[in-house]
Amino acid sequence: MRRTYRYRLYPTRQQAAALGTQVDEACRLYNAALDERRSAWRMHGISIRYLDQAGRWDVGFVVEIPEPELLPACEVAVGIDVGLTTFAVLSDGSEIANPRHFRAAERRLRVAQRKLARRRRRSRRRLKARQGVARLHAHVRNQRRDVHHKTARALVERYGLVAVEDLNTRALAGSLLAKSVDDAGWGQFLSILADKAACAGRRLVRANPAGTTQACSACGVVVPKTLAERWRDCPTCGLSLGRDHNAALNILRRALDQTPGWGVQAATVEDAHAVA
Ligand SMILES: [Zn+2]
Repeated sequence: MRRTYRYRLYPTRQQAAALGTQVDEACRLYNAALDERRSAWRMHGISIRYLDQAGRWDVGFVVEIPEPELLPACEVAVGIDVGLTTFAVLSDGSEIANPRHFRAAERRLRVAQRKLARRRRRSRRRLKARQGVARLHAHVRNQRRDVHHKTARALVERYGLVAVEDLNTRALAGSLLAKSVDDAGWGQFLSILADKAACAGRRLVRANPAGTTQACSACGVVVPKTLAERWRDCPTCGLSLGRDHNAALNILRRALDQTPGWGVQAATVEDAHAVA
């Protein structure tokens, strides 16, 4: 299997000049080859515009990767919701916490940002503080990606169907969700998860998340919730469980509704309720 990764390149002026020389060489070689071919085949009227743009640099890597290894079939389905205090909450009630080292790195970043804000403009100390913030930023970013990869891998190994909220409808739902999370971070996690699910032959189902926090996952009655309310007590059926857990159950149910033929739906949802 071949896969191409494409990245935008931001070269310095010197690097751009060096790259330009390379392209010129390639261009000359190409044109020379074409010239030869042209005279040989008497072809006319071909115009090559090799360097129509060259302002922007992109680099492509073509890599050969082994065929994806499908995981053994698994009938268990799970729903995931973004946690308010943890990274995510699953429909079985379990939570995925951010690892301690990640939280510590985030804390260091916040401290460094405060320090930067206190430094006088254009001072040497401000420059140093800014470099420190940039370094910690990169560190946190790498750690977050690492956490996302590990979490996605664990989910794909454990479940045959993973239900997540659809980020596209999420943006439209807006205030209905009454929850603000780091959408960029969550988006990265979902794309990593989608990738791993596809490689392992797992189902990833995106469900509309609108109202998943407000609706009771057992009886469906809608009770508006504020952000402060972490727990959900249903006045109609008496269900009592964490709000993110309730939302994860709703996401799972919606995903199963749009996935006919997934055999274990009732059992999974009921089991999860039993746990709650
Ligand atoms: Zn209820």
